[in-house]
Amino acid sequence: MRGVAVLGSTGSIGESALAVLRRHPERFRVVALTAGSNADRLKQQVEEFRPEFVGLVNGAKTHRLIDEGLPASVRLCAYSSSPSCLIEAATHPGVDVVINAVVGFAGLDATLAALRAGKRVALANKESLVTAGSLVLEAARAGGGEIIPVDSEHSAVLQCLAGARSAPSRLVLTASGGPFRTWEPDRIASATVTEALQHPTWRMGSKISVDSATLVNKALEIIEAHFLFGLSYDRLDVVVHPQSIVHAFVEFEDGSMLAQLGIPSMELPILYALTYPERVGDAGTRRFDPVAAGPLTFEPVRLEVFRGFALGVEMGRKGGSAPTVFNAANEAAVAAFLDNRIPFGRIGELIERVATDHDVTPVDTVEAVREADRWARARVRELLGE
Ligand code: NAD
Ligand code: MG
Repeated sequence: MRGVAVLGSTGSIGESALAVLRRHPERFRVVALTAGSNADRLKQQVEEFRPEFVGLVNGAKTHRLIDEGLPASVRLCAYSSSPSCLIEAATHPGVDVVINAVVGFAGLDATLAALRAGKRVALANKESLVTAGSLVLEAARAGGGEIIPVDSEHSAVLQCLAGARSAPSRLVLTASGGPFRTWEPDRIASATVTEALQHPTWRMGSKISVDSATLVNKALEIIEAHFLFGLSYDRLDVVVHPQSIVHAFVEFEDGSMLAQLGIPSMELPILYALTYPERVGDAGTRRFDPVAAGPLTFEPVRLEVFRGFALGVEMGRKGGSAPTVFNAANEAAVAAFLDNRIPFGRIGELIERVATDHDVTPVDTVEAVREADRWARARVRELLGE
């Protein structure tokens, strides 16, 4: 029996994780659940899974909802916007695996704390690696924790590398191309929130859906792959594959290419992150039929249209505070777009402005990372006249 914490349990990945855990009660025990602010859904989950620890991160006002009827043995943590509940859940003594499904920079502290405490982190929160990759790897080394990716492309790479005796020479991550893959630039610039959230192959939370529409998500994933697999940026490529059946390719020195395929579903990478290096249980996904799947096609990224992609990779290459700043500017710009404060086309413009204005510094401490993050968010607010 492995004890599991699900951070961000009310989100898209969080719910998929609970679907996986629900199917395997003989293997996994849900020890801790945390949510941002959806107290109603969290309460239902608590009633079903009976965890020992419940965290409502932005729950100063709503935690009473959950508190009612909770056995005295359960610890309830509710603050107004503090990482403490996430850290407590991530380091809980009964937890072996932390599924970090929090969205954005807010997930970093829990990743670091879990790794320092020697836990396995099933990492969906790619922003942890993007903003503080070296510090995250250092925390794993120091505490004996391990990072297993949940992101489907990185899970695909890990699956292709299982049993490999040689290091890969190149990774190719696939991208669906998002909802605007074939749109003209003018039409993309004025796309609505509803259009941006209509992802062709995946159902996801709103932030990552917008990132998929700008292709910024793929830049974040290249940076994530750089830290996870230790390959230089020259050895990391992206190809657009609208069907989202092939999740990644791994090339070896002899020219051989391995790929991992499957119907798009996050339950498989979540289960694999829980059971790695073994494969146990059924992820519940529809079985793949090559004939029914039809043609699989591949095309290059339209770099001149999706400029946030190339910029993100460039910021990754620069290292230091550059990827932190790129991520923070993106988070702030995406939030403004989702709030209808800026048009879609402005997201890329804002990130580019912030990136140009930034002088890259080394980030050797979490405080330095936080400072770079704060600076970029403040710069976006300034540019928006707020
Ligand atoms: P989501 O918005 O659906 O869910 C986010 C969860 O985090 C919710 O439970 C929310 O309550 C919680 N949360 C939000 N802000 C918080 C804060 N400040 N503090 C604590 N908790 C907070 O997002 P998602 O689509 O599930 O994505 C989660 C992470 O997984 C992201 O980093 C995303 O890039 C990554 N990811 C998602 C998918 C997918 O299919 N959804 C695929 C690959 C990677
Ligand atoms: Mg992905």
